[in-house]
Amino acid sequence: MPRQYPIEKVRDIGIIAHIDAGKTTVTERILFYTGISHKIGEVHEGEAIMDWMEQERERGITITSAATTCFWIPTYESKEVEDDEEMKELKNEHEHRINIIDTPGHIDFTVEVQRSLRVLDGAVAIFDGVAGVEPQSETNWHYADDYNVPRICFINKMDRTGANFLKSFQSIKERLTSDAIPIQLPIGAESDFEGVIDLVTNKAYKFEGDHGEKMKEIDIPENKKEEVKEARKELIEKVAESNEELLEKYLEEEEITIQELRETLRKAVINIDVIPVMCGSALKNKGVQPLLDAIIDYLPAPTDLPPIKGINLDHEEEERHPKDDEPVAALAFKLASDPYVGNLTYFRLYSGTIKKGSYLLNPGEDKKERIGRILRMHANHREEVDEIYAGDLGAIVGLKGTTTGDTLCNPDHPIILENISFPDPVISVRIEPKTKADQEKMGVALRKLGDEDPTFQVSADSDTGETIIAGMGELHLEVIVSRLKREFGVETEMGRPQVAYRETIKGSAEAEGKYIRQSGGRGQYGHVLIKLEKLDRGEGFEFVDEIKGGAIPQEFIPAVEKGIKEAMSKGIYAGYPITDFKVTLYDGSFHEVDSSDNAFKVAGSMAFQDAAKKAGLALLEPIMKIQIIAPDKYLGDVTGDLNSKRGQIQSMEERDKVREINALVPLSELFGYSTQLRSMTQGRGSFNMEFAHYDIVPDNVARELVGD
Ligand code: GDP
Repeated sequence: MPRQYPIEKVRDIGIIAHIDAGKTTVTERILFYTGISHKIGEVHEGEAIMDWMEQERERGITITSAATTCFWIPTYESKEVEDDEEMKELKNEHEHRINIIDTPGHIDFTVEVQRSLRVLDGAVAIFDGVAGVEPQSETNWHYADDYNVPRICFINKMDRTGANFLKSFQSIKERLTSDAIPIQLPIGAESDFEGVIDLVTNKAYKFEGDHGEKMKEIDIPENKKEEVKEARKELIEKVAESNEELLEKYLEEEEITIQELRETLRKAVINIDVIPVMCGSALKNKGVQPLLDAIIDYLPAPTDLPPIKGINLDHEEEERHPKDDEPVAALAFKLASDPYVGNLTYFRLYSGTIKKGSYLLNPGEDKKERIGRILRMHANHREEVDEIYAGDLGAIVGLKGTTTGDTLCNPDHPIILENISFPDPVISVRIEPKTKADQEKMGVALRKLGDEDPTFQVSADSDTGETIIAGMGELHLEVIVSRLKREFGVETEMGRPQVAYRETIKGSAEAEGKYIRQSGGRGQYGHVLIKLEKLDRGEGFEFVDEIKGGAIPQEFIPAVEKGIKEAMSKGIYAGYPITDFKVTLYDGSFHEVDSSDNAFKVAGSMAFQDAAKKAGLALLEPIMKIQIIAPDKYLGDVTGDLNSKRGQIQSMEERDKVREINALVPLSELFGYSTQLRSMTQGRGSFNMEFAHYDIVPDNVARELVGD
């Protein structure tokens, strides 16, 4: 089957939003208008299509990241058609394919947001027309900055009491980007919100019909004309800033055509020089069609972006272009187990064509994978396809050796694309099934969940054999436990959550490790000299081999490193893994007969433990970045409490009648914080938190933890 869509007509986009801003509703309306969803179900009735996981429905948040395909003909190109033939023609010319990569809305799952940002080309950021920019919109916005994602802003909920377009736009401009500029103005607000004025075309629209599905052009209301003129002028000035040709025309007061403005704006959005701001009410079905038009008009096609880079097996950089005839380079960005088809690996295809029945290489794992079934996911059905082309997204069924972040490529042209980096878990908890009979079922279920989510880890306590699960926050683990029950039918009991402490080295030291046993028969001989130095926070572990003149034969050197790694994972000070240090192996000796891997492993471990004690050890704890919103009058209580929790207040801002407090607080002090904040503020305070970094635990606290 030949390619259905030229790649220029493909958009790979995501929708990012603060929880409750309306991401689910907007997505659902998009699917409705693109003709896939045929009925309008509201989130609170639990019918959201993207929320296909039961429990997401229950919580009203979207956790998984699925890719959904839909199709759209821009409203300004669509027309009444007489017959199928004309329809085919219209589609051929103007239909676009939009792949929506679902991004979750809750801060504990930012890793999901990040991995979606990695594979999408553009995003729609949704804001609540009453609240404007909220703390978490800021966090996700900055991630999108990190990944250079072109964006459109959609100020939603224009129908709500208190909704204010210009105020919300100002909050975007002040708090997120000075490049934001309205490309629409609302007609009416709150319960009188009825349509939008497009500043690019200078046309006004009203939404009529039961579901607002009839988008009707109307005259620009008389009382809006002056405002529209002014706003359009500002838009043209903003776009002209990044385009000399347009600037000249503007200064010469020459006529600027709609087509010209649209095209120049498109370039500016793709370059992230301009961020267009739109508005609407997803719930009331107003403004969704123009948003779809804007996705096509202003967000990039895969071909509008620079080629993707990776390294080949010789560690040289290579590029892949979004072309069907280049060698395949795809990135697996999500694993999911589907009750009907089994394991799914979602991928973004950057270059080449993936064909059913072919073999691809996973060069990181050095594994060949057979491509059995390829699926394209639509909101309410899956389509089995024989081929997928450059720039598209899909899912492969039944891959065995590929995990999130792996590259799949043409075996004759190996390339490894930049992996998605995941933070290590910061919190863990013991978990056991309520009935012993469920032990095995729980193990299988946890393994599956761990495969899907790289920030969720499962291990067994080395002393007691109990199961320990670890993740990025309390909510993250609660969600896992609830999925165990819901999807796998395993009821469990959790222990008290434990903070994932680490140990680190305070200074530097040298040490010698000698493991020599020579009493009859074959002995043991391992002897090493090492230098230990601390590294900056977050740098992990580095091992440098500086052995000269064969003082230790090359074959034994990996064993020395292994011994150090074993000692490092067990910890020295309080039994937590040690991190952020460098070991240089610079001398030693060996014995022709008695030396072995094992002897060098023990010597390495002894030398490291000795050096670490000499250099001094400290305990590290995860510090969370927390953003709290609370009414003014509770400010004293909230900040006083933060101080007692060893919190460092970073900033306090006034917003209408509420305060926003930003602070850094150790995770260990934040267990059960939602209940505490609720009672401190009579239910009116809210907060978001995410992992910030590891920091040294103060001596007095550390002594308590270690128990000496
Ligand atoms: P998400 O958490 O970002 O996915 O937000 P949802 O789509 O679940 O919406 C959160 C709540 O806001 C739900 O109760 C929606 O019905 C409501 N909502 C969404 N869009 C609008 C809107 O345009 N106007 C109003 N008044 N409510 C909306």
